[in-house]
This record gives sequence, C-alpha cells and structure tokens, in this order.
Amino acid sequence: MKDGWPETIEELKSSCVTLRDALTAQFGDIRDVGDGYMKVSCCGSEDNMVYGQGIGPDRAHCKKCGREILDALSPFVSPFLRVSSGAVCVPSSKAFEEFGEKTWFVVPYKQPIHKSSETAETLA
Ligand SMILES: [Zn+2]
Repeated sequence: MKDGWPETIEELKSSCVTLRDALTAQFGDIRDVGDGYMKVSCCGSEDNMVYGQGIGPDRAHCKKCGREILDALSPFVSPFLRVSSGAVCVPSSKAFEEFGEKTWFVVPYKQPIHKSSETAETLA
C-alpha cells in the first residue's frame, strides 16, 4: 500500500467495503430514509454531496472537502481499471463475484485540496 492506495488486486480486494461501510467511514453522517435509500451529509450539509458520474451511483464525493468514495469495479470512475491511455478494462463477471457487495473504495483523504480555490473566493 502506498499512501493508502492498493497496488495489487489482492490489496484492492481486501480494502474494499460495502457502500454503507464506505459512506460511514468517509462521511460518517448517514441517515436511512426508507426504501433502501440513504442520505449522506458532509461538512454540515447534504448539499455538499455529489453522486455518480457514469451510469448509476458509482462515486460519491463532497464538493467542500473533497472526501470521496468510489466503486472500484466501475469502469467510469475506478482508477484501478484504467490500464493505459484510451484503454479501459471492464471487470469480468468473475471479478464481480469475487468482490461481492464489497466493491467500494474509500479514497485516502488528504488535507483540503480546495484550499487555493477557497482563498480565491475569499479574495474575490
Ligand atoms: Zn466534506
């Protein structure tokens, strides 16, 4: 593991968790709103949250602090499936079987990436 990022598929597999666990680990504040839906907030507001990128909810991140979780098996957002420029590898059904429900990767959180933009806003 380098800076919390897995380097092998085995490391990736052991660091992936269920969606609920990933949300809890990264954002902490989740609320069940019925019918299997969960509401998540970060930095004090649900409005900070952004979901999805490709098809379906394959990524969630906070606009404010940059905390992020992503579906490691989603070709749209996973940094683990990009093999070279222009080529993306698509997970096999075997990969899906092996990961089961635990396909969510909690992106290692480093201190504010948005610092400079925040400063810019303050100065504007
Ligand atoms: Zn946040």
